[in-house]
Amino acid sequence: MAFEFTQKIRQEAFERQSRRCAFCGDHMATGRFFGHHVIPKQLGNPALARDDLLATVENCVALCTDDERNCHSHVHAGANYRTGTVAMPEAFKFSHGGSRVLHQAWQAKLSIIFNQIFDEIGERYRRSGGA
Ligand SMILES: [Zn+2]
Repeated sequence: MAFEFTQKIRQEAFERQSRRCAFCGDHMATGRFFGHHVIPKQLGNPALARDDLLATVENCVALCTDDERNCHSHVHAGANYRTGTVAMPEAFKFSHGGSRVLHQAWQAKLSIIFNQIFDEIGERYRRSGGA
């Protein structure tokens, strides 16, 4: 599968977040977390250089994935990983640990790319005779 994160990228995201879950802000002392793609990797086209971003630390947030609290399952609308909705970048308030300024700059950048990809998918759908 294209656009998987390396272990190094996942670790970088974890450290960028000061070892807190990007969604709920809990400290993940155990180091157990899931490296979540903010822009879903399934939307990527390996032929487009722009989509290389999907596998970078910019697109990676570390989310808690414990039995009692599982933000990864939550942001996929109840573990609907293949077809479920996904959270927009602004949902990951702790993407940069406690820094609101860095979070806002990051979410603004990712939201632009997120919207471009969805616009292109919508356009392809309309051209193929969809609504
Ligand atoms: Zn969490």
